[in-house]
Amino acid sequence: MALMRLDKLLALQTGVTRREAAALVRQGAACLNGQPLQDPAQRVEPACVTLHGKSLGYEEFVYLMLNKPAGVLTAARDKKQPTVMDLIPPELFRRGIQPVGRLDKDTTGLLLLTDDGALAHHLLSPKHHVWKTYRAQLSAPPRPGSEERFAAGVKLSDFTCLPAELHLLEDGSTPTYEVCVHEGKFHQVKRMFLAQGCEVLALCRTVFGPLSLPADLPEGACRLLTAEERNVLC
Ligand code: URA
Repeated sequence: MALMRLDKLLALQTGVTRREAAALVRQGAACLNGQPLQDPAQRVEPACVTLHGKSLGYEEFVYLMLNKPAGVLTAARDKKQPTVMDLIPPELFRRGIQPVGRLDKDTTGLLLLTDDGALAHHLLSPKHHVWKTYRAQLSAPPRPGSEERFAAGVKLSDFTCLPAELHLLEDGSTPTYEVCVHEGKFHQVKRMFLAQGCEVLALCRTVFGPLSLPADLPEGACRLLTAEERNVLC
């Protein structure tokens, strides 16, 4: 793990200012491998530091899942509109956190955010074919033969999609389908359905790679991945 300035580490992990962190160090509250530290500017191994005898629980990277609501942009920042970053609770926020890929403004569901750039790159790389599952409510049933066309690769005006899976979840006036894709081009799922003669009225991502949207994570809520979730992802 990379070394970090002691005052920066304390500020990051406890929410105090750098000045307050420096004061804590001078009071002898911080130890490295059990030895009291004196210099707030000392570079330390975060995992070996305690404050008032307690581990700081420092993790090199933060991995979050958000149940994205409709109406927020998947962007690091925007001058006019709310973004997913506004939904990260301050205690989980760290500089450098970015959404892993994007969902449209009106799409809801599972979105990962992390400051682990290498993992984000891996998950987004077309080479790694990470599966994503969406639940789509449609304006009308897709044309007969859509399952077969999804499986063969839907032809759009500018490219042919990779094979995808399409399953009916619920029939009725607003038919609901589940679609599994392993690419993520701009408006791809909506365009795939448009090519079958129907419009997507509501789209929710329920699965991203090995992770599913938990039933107990309300829309707009954000939490750290559990150790188990992190292990299957990394
Ligand atoms: N496909 C879409 O059309 N929109 C999304 O937000 C995600 C996938």
